[in-house]
Parts: sequence; C-alpha cells; structure tokens
Amino acid sequence: MTMAPEPPAKPLPQVGPDMQPFFDAARRRELVVQQCGRCQTLRFPARSICSTCLARDARWIPVSGHGHVFSFAVMHQAVHPGFAAKVPYAVVVIQLDEGPRLLSNLVDCAPGDIRIGMPVEVVFDDVTAEVTLPKFRPRRAGNQPAVST
Ligand SMILES: [Zn+2]
Repeated sequence: MTMAPEPPAKPLPQVGPDMQPFFDAARRRELVVQQCGRCQTLRFPARSICSTCLARDARWIPVSGHGHVFSFAVMHQAVHPGFAAKVPYAVVVIQLDEGPRLLSNLVDCAPGDIRIGMPVEVVFDDVTAEVTLPKFRPRRAGNQPAVST
C-alpha cells in the first residue's frame, strides 16, 4: 500500500521584532494592536513611528476582537502549493471596531456567503506548535467565546 504524499506546508509569517508582540499575544488568545504612546492613535501593522504625530514610543493594547468585513477577494487559483487544497478561499480585510484594519481569513463561512459589512469576531488558529494566526468568523448569537477574558 502506498501512502499519499503529504501536501506542501503553507508558508508561515516571517515575524520581525516589530510584530513579535502581536504573535506572542495570539498564542495567548489575545488580539492586540499598537497604540501611540503620545497621541493614542491605534495602528496595525506595527510601525516604528506614529504617522499622526511622529512619536516613536508605542505600546500594544488588547482589542475586542470584534469588527466587520471591509473588503475581500476570493482566490480561485493557489498562489502557493500549500493552498492548493483550500481553493476557493477568501482573503478578507477586517475593520476592527476600534478602527485598525488587518488582513485575515474567515472561517465557518463559505466564500459565497461573505458580505461587505458582515459582523465578525476573532478566533485563533494554531497552525503550528509555535505559530497562532488570528482569523475571523461571522458573529452570531450562540457562538462560544473565542477571546479569553
Ligand atoms: Zn501619535
């Protein structure tokens, strides 16, 4: 009997020091964004300087994990062999209730059911023993909480 070959692994984020706190928080099931230490502007992804006031000091703060679909694109061709079994899948721009936007995927939702403006909430996907990715699902009454409090 021959075994089917393992599918190629999906690429993992290349995490630099600026974004390490975001991925450390995801391991803890916490969604965080950077906040300027001077003018309090929230931003994502991390930057070394505030685009509002040019201050360099910043901190990471937890956010609700709630937001809505700002935009999305459905991928019908695998841009990497690791995604071949996943097409069609959607790449989604999430606008958090707190303001920043981030790129992610929706789970528990077929690509054809995604709508601009639909409310979503964060869930955490342990893609390896070391890397957890924040993803989102439609926000519905009856969902089990995904964010630990
Ligand atoms: Zn600022």
